[in-house]
Amino acid sequence: MKTTTVKGLIIKETKVGEGNKIFTVLTEEMGKIQVSAAGVRSFKSKISGACSLFCYSKFIISKGKSIFNVSSADCIYNFFNLRNDFEKLSYATYFCDLAGSVMVEQQDNSALKLLLNTLYYLEKHDNYSVIKPVYELRLMTVCGFAPLISCCNSCGGKDGITYFSVDDGIVYCSKCSKRTNMTEDTYMALMYILCCDDNKIFSFNASDEVIKQLNSFSENYVLVQTGSRLKSLDYLKSNFQII
Ligand SMILES: [Zn+2]
Repeated sequence: MKTTTVKGLIIKETKVGEGNKIFTVLTEEMGKIQVSAAGVRSFKSKISGACSLFCYSKFIISKGKSIFNVSSADCIYNFFNLRNDFEKLSYATYFCDLAGSVMVEQQDNSALKLLLNTLYYLEKHDNYSVIKPVYELRLMTVCGFAPLISCCNSCGGKDGITYFSVDDGIVYCSKCSKRTNMTEDTYMALMYILCCDDNKIFSFNASDEVIKQLNSFSENYVLVQTGSRLKSLDYLKSNFQII
């Protein structure tokens, strides 16, 4: 049987039957795939560690009837310590869930890179009110739903931009729209988040007001773009105050 080696992060797992699991894996090579692992819940299984939620592993897989079957798995890095903190676990679960819901099969690996970056950062930091909007906005961007914010949608100007139309993903300057919902600092932060290098996404300072505006935009923008509200987000928000 033809086998393929892929590297990927397990973002969702479902128990099936006696000792089996089905995973959703974001891979470097094939985008999002579904993988079945037989007998992996048995204590005798050699691959159960590498086949767990939040594990970034190297898998040898083969094409089954409808999904892939895994024959071998080696853990490269696991984010298991996120499970030791209920708040971090709730964020990690939501971030994985959101990536899984936005990403389509055969997409490039930029969403995976972003998710890995974000989980690494989440392990060491707890500034959730920054991590969440940055991840949400950046994920929309790498998955092809970037808002068009480089200039005013009406006049093309780049100065005095103070209104972000979340429903349309466009911005207006103060001359073209009487409505205002962001400061120029928030606009600068938005530009930074959407345009900076991958490894610098969390490297910026912002005032409480900017962070508040970013949070309001990012969550609503995700909702408009995806058209559905994830249960993992409701769960997160019912247990923790984000801002
Ligand atoms: Zn304008």
